[in-house]
Amino acid sequence: MKMADIPPDDYSWRKYGQKPIKGSPHPRGYYKCSNVRGCPARKHVDRALDDPPMLIVTYEGEHNHSRSITETPALHVLESS
Ligand SMILES: [Zn+2]
Repeated sequence: MKMADIPPDDYSWRKYGQKPIKGSPHPRGYYKCSNVRGCPARKHVDRALDDPPMLIVTYEGEHNHSRSITETPALHVLESS
């Protein structure tokens, strides 16, 4: 499965594995969020058995960051009062 097959969304994903699916010629691809190190969000992508061009994307976990890749660094205002 090529990365180009995956419909784009607001996050960047890095493939970290795939697993053969019983009864299906198409392996399931596993992706994790690559926007932020340590983000727990995952998704896996299956192809529909009866309609191989159709992709079934399942999301797991929540992003622990905003969807913007350019993160604004937190401003710590130090008040010496
Ligand atoms: Zn994320």
